[in-house]
Amino acid sequence: MTQTTWQFNLDNQPHTVSAEIAPLGGIRGVQVDGAALPAAGEGSFDGAALRNFSVDGRSLQVVQYSGSAALLVDGQAVPTAPGQPLPARLQKYEAHRAFWQKLSQLTGLKENPRADGQLEWRNRLIGTADNRLVVLNYSLSNQLLRPRIAIFTRFAEEKDLNSLRGKIESDPVVLALAKRLKRFTLEMTVQPVGAAILLPYDVRKTTPEQAVEDIRALLNVIKKHTKPLPLTFCDWGHCKSAAHPRELVFYNHSPLVVCSSCMPLLEKAGETNQARFSRRTPGLLKAASAGLAVGALAGVFFGIWKVSIILAIASFALFFAIIAAMNRLTVKRTTGMIWLAGAFTLLGVAVASVMEATLKLLRTLTDTSQVQYGLVFSQPESVRMMVTNLGISLVLTGFTLWFALHQQRQGVRELTHPTIEHSGVLD
Ligand SMILES: [Zn+2]
Repeated sequence: MTQTTWQFNLDNQPHTVSAEIAPLGGIRGVQVDGAALPAAGEGSFDGAALRNFSVDGRSLQVVQYSGSAALLVDGQAVPTAPGQPLPARLQKYEAHRAFWQKLSQLTGLKENPRADGQLEWRNRLIGTADNRLVVLNYSLSNQLLRPRIAIFTRFAEEKDLNSLRGKIESDPVVLALAKRLKRFTLEMTVQPVGAAILLPYDVRKTTPEQAVEDIRALLNVIKKHTKPLPLTFCDWGHCKSAAHPRELVFYNHSPLVVCSSCMPLLEKAGETNQARFSRRTPGLLKAASAGLAVGALAGVFFGIWKVSIILAIASFALFFAIIAAMNRLTVKRTTGMIWLAGAFTLLGVAVASVMEATLKLLRTLTDTSQVQYGLVFSQPESVRMMVTNLGISLVLTGFTLWFALHQQRQGVRELTHPTIEHSGVLD
């Protein structure tokens, strides 16, 4: 447990904030001017590594990052004492913040920091450009973790997505931009009623002016090939005719346009999802049978080829194949299914090992050998092989199971406790 203390002035009033941080356990406690802050509450945007609070009407955040902690006052990183330099990591954060503030000034889009965003992930701009909703988000490339600006915009429903994507990708403006960025093509997601284009930037090399020019050019390309969202459009449920005004809302960080009559339904989305999720789902038994079949068939196949060790080493692949088979036959994935998949994986490896051992044993038998049920389990080398295979599989399946259960928990949490952020931007 480490403690970090910040001393700073707000409107000439001195304040002290201190935070206790457990390197692996997140923020344990925050004191503001000597008084402890209440623990992170349900429904707020706080997390293990983030606490939001306010002092004299200013919004403050304590953020944990790689073992250390930052204090942000209205988004600005504060040194531990006045006049002290900021750590290098926070200087980098400030460079990004300055870049995004400049983007806001140049585009006229409003700063709208993501409520649960940590450091650079707070950067978000929203507003309208040419009567179309626009959201700019901070993003990172998956491979090289290079920062990008995710440019979202909405348009009237497009039936032929491939054709729209083709038109955008082959637009001379996009081609020229990709060439300048030394990329084969720009990364983008094109959906029926919206698109996101990812524009890489580097705060040391790209000027905000250049970025804004590129963003405008890209938005114009989308405008050229699409029509604006009709006034009847609403993102929620099966809403056929929007009641105005519509608001830009972030649902699990996705920008949605929701009309005023659907807004109460959106607020209840977590409860609705919870109720739908707790209901028993049809096809669960069928799904379990399919999983069992995949496990057993793989076992027989690898057993016949006498390569059960390969199946043991590929336990994680077998596990996901079983999950995939189950998913095809049911409407949702449950924790029980994941445990079953783990059991079927071990079963598959066991089947393969026993078959391989039996086939090997059969070859050594002569006419005079006395064949007994279970003979294969009395052979030391067979037992050794089975134990080795099952041991390997147990370790790998254990890891895969842990990973899958963790993913499942996160998925269910996102479904039943969605983060809903209102932007206040009406359309
Ligand atoms: Zn609606």
